[in-house]
Amino acid sequence: MDNYKCKTCGKEHAVFKAVEVSKPERILEIAEAERAQRVKEIQGSYLIDDTLFLLQGDIFIYKEEEEKPFFTWSVWVSISLADFQSKAKELEERKNVVFDGQLETALPFYEKTKGLKVKVFINLDYDYSVVKIAEASPIKEDQSEKITDVRVMTLLDRFYHPLVKS
Ligand SMILES: [Zn+2]
Repeated sequence: MDNYKCKTCGKEHAVFKAVEVSKPERILEIAEAERAQRVKEIQGSYLIDDTLFLLQGDIFIYKEEEEKPFFTWSVWVSISLADFQSKAKELEERKNVVFDGQLETALPFYEKTKGLKVKVFINLDYDYSVVKIAEASPIKEDQSEKITDVRVMTLLDRFYHPLVKS
């Protein structure tokens, strides 16, 4: 599936499977003059006010009859520094560690994703961390079971026509 015929405008739209975000909005919200003092960058992650740790992770969405993830959405999540440090030893020992966090990215496919509670699975041996939505929401439902072609089109439609209420 490379293109699909859009029900909203009747045109063909490209099916894209990955979304990458640049900088966490939470950092952009901090006045530039304050950033140097409040934000530290640590190997692609950020520490704000020495209390909140922001890191990138991937949300995977699977589609029916496909083994590999269909959508890979790269997002920012926040976890408390204290929580992160409490499990630092396990991380250093290359164990799988799960953190409670919060989604920091607004995904274009849903009404509201920013602020949702998430579980973040980290293993320092892997290139990416896995993010699973922990709070009841449409995105959690999409992540809990394999989605259909129709659902794929509905999600993409929200991206191409953000102002149309579905
Ligand atoms: Zn369209």
